[in-house]
Amino acid sequence: MAERPVSKVIEQSVQVLGPVLWFFQQSTWSKKVGDPTLCDFVAGNPHDMPLPEVVAAIQRHSVPQNKDWFAYKMEDEPAQAAAAEGLLRDHGITYDPLDITLTPGTFGALSVSMRAVLDPGDECLFISPPWFFYEAMIIATGATPVRVVSPAPAFDLPLDAIEKAITPKTRAIIVNSPNNPSGRIYPAADLQRLGAILKAASDRNGRTIYLLSDESYRRILFDGNTFTSPAAHYDATMVLYTYGKQLLAPGQRLGYVALTPTMPDRELLREAVTLSRIIGGWQTPNNVMQYALPELEHASVDIPRLQARRDRVVEQLRGMGYELNMPDSTFYIVAKSPIEDDMAFTEMLAEHNVFVGPGAIFELPGYFRLSITANDDMIERSFPGFEKALAQARG
Ligand code: PMP
Repeated sequence: MAERPVSKVIEQSVQVLGPVLWFFQQSTWSKKVGDPTLCDFVAGNPHDMPLPEVVAAIQRHSVPQNKDWFAYKMEDEPAQAAAAEGLLRDHGITYDPLDITLTPGTFGALSVSMRAVLDPGDECLFISPPWFFYEAMIIATGATPVRVVSPAPAFDLPLDAIEKAITPKTRAIIVNSPNNPSGRIYPAADLQRLGAILKAASDRNGRTIYLLSDESYRRILFDGNTFTSPAAHYDATMVLYTYGKQLLAPGQRLGYVALTPTMPDRELLREAVTLSRIIGGWQTPNNVMQYALPELEHASVDIPRLQARRDRVVEQLRGMGYELNMPDSTFYIVAKSPIEDDMAFTEMLAEHNVFVGPGAIFELPGYFRLSITANDDMIERSFPGFEKALAQARG
């Protein structure tokens, strides 16, 4: 038998992440990333100095106040209480602080929640175009990923397709609203119907289908939009959150899994999530971030400024002849590639020092994605490059 130095999970992940790995490890962008002369619209990464409130909170809480300051820490009660208050503000639902398990961002929350409920043979639905890592993370649990397409350019929650995709093996569905990449916030009426579909299917199957609600962007809202959580419309919802977006500090790894107060078998689930976090490799945020959470709950990137950037980019690029969506939320704008091959167009833009994410890396061929976490200077410098690449593409 041929030697296989790595696990099947890794082999499969390499396969499903093919274009993503190529882009992050081999594209022109990957070789130049970090160079301040780039106009870098690729990822939701900061291109300005960190928020002073974040720096101050980390500095303050890194000074030990007792001998246990850096000891193993399961739950930091003030952090759980602060997260519960934040959820009450955003959801209008009272969560029990004990049902909030801190994790290293939504990445950690996904891993911890999936490991708590998924077994090999189970199916987990996700909506495409997805965030890059859902499929590989489902595979990592041994479960089977099932893709449900949300067609462009509307990117609606595909309720009929979800209903059709459910089988007796369905154990979970990942719902991401506000959505990356589309910037859509799913309306309450759609979430209500989704809840009814999942409830009926759970009853039919005789076992709960869990809704994993990826709410990473629920505080990045433009134009006075409001957010409704799927948790308001379905009992068996686990809320997954990261402070990485609201603080624009994704490397600091802070977030949580929250169980709804109406969760079936809530006590068992709470224990499962806690244990999952331990056996997954002590997936807790570091102690300093836990202590800082009550202060960080109230800190945020400048949303009106982000919105102004969105408007500036959309207005300028539409003026040149690009087709772009107008996101309701998130850091992202989806644009149509002027040529079918979005990888090729991305490289054309790269010749002009403008870098975007090709649709091929998030299952949306023929499109590309721009992150408005690019700073104002990058945005202004990018326009001639966008114009030249478009002219080049049109021949
Ligand atoms: N889900 C979505 C939809 C995201 O966009 C991201 C970050 N790009 C994550 C999860 C992961 O967030 P974090 O790295 O803060 O855990």
